[in-house]
Amino acid sequence: MSILANRDQLVKEAITLGRAENAKPTALRYQYYLQLNCLEFKVTDFILAREGTACVNDRFEPSPASGVDSSHYLTLSDAEKDETTSGTAVISSITWLLERERGDVELRKYSGTLDHPRYSDKQGATINAFQHFTYLYSNETLVLADIQGKSNIFTPLYLHRSSESHDPKSQAAILFDLMSHTATGGSGTGDQGEKGIQTSLDQHECVQKCALLSLKPLREPEALDANEEDNDSNSE
Ligand SMILES: [Zn+2]
Repeated sequence: MSILANRDQLVKEAITLGRAENAKPTALRYQYYLQLNCLEFKVTDFILAREGTACVNDRFEPSPASGVDSSHYLTLSDAEKDETTSGTAVISSITWLLERERGDVELRKYSGTLDHPRYSDKQGATINAFQHFTYLYSNETLVLADIQGKSNIFTPLYLHRSSESHDPKSQAAILFDLMSHTATGGSGTGDQGEKGIQTSLDQHECVQKCALLSLKPLREPEALDANEEDNDSNSE
């Protein structure tokens, strides 16, 4: 993938994280209103960063971690590099999406690209309802996919000023590396457009939280009636 294509993908990934984060407070307000426990998950903090040099007289060289070979970089055209300057700094287009170190804790996968299971535990069911909520919140133009999170976050002492770390024993899952299916199909890697949205709608089986949030059903009433007995027999 070219430097610019990689930059564009990371910007899209950041937008998806931002959309999820943006939807969450609205979902939480509903939950607060309904006096539900709503601390089962958070969306990761992140920074979009670009490599560069502090001095315009220094030639920029990609870091080894970027995977961009220095000698190859030199052969690229100005358009392919798309470097910019800020004061005396040279800023390359080699872009990183930086997130907090999560530590070696268990990763839980809630959904795949085209696989959206229903969960009966509290945290999983909250994710189910959040998926349903974000679809409606987006005016039916977006579903979240590839949802994964880590619990029991490891937080170094020097990061304790951050909002995520006020409760180091927090069991909330931190969601990261999200993707989405959107009506335009343009939200980044893996976005399968309408097909991806429809697959999610077909597979979603409402949990109790969906009803508590008064979310509009995603399927016709007949289809919901057929599932109702199953739903009632599952405890959450
Ligand atoms: Zn639902």
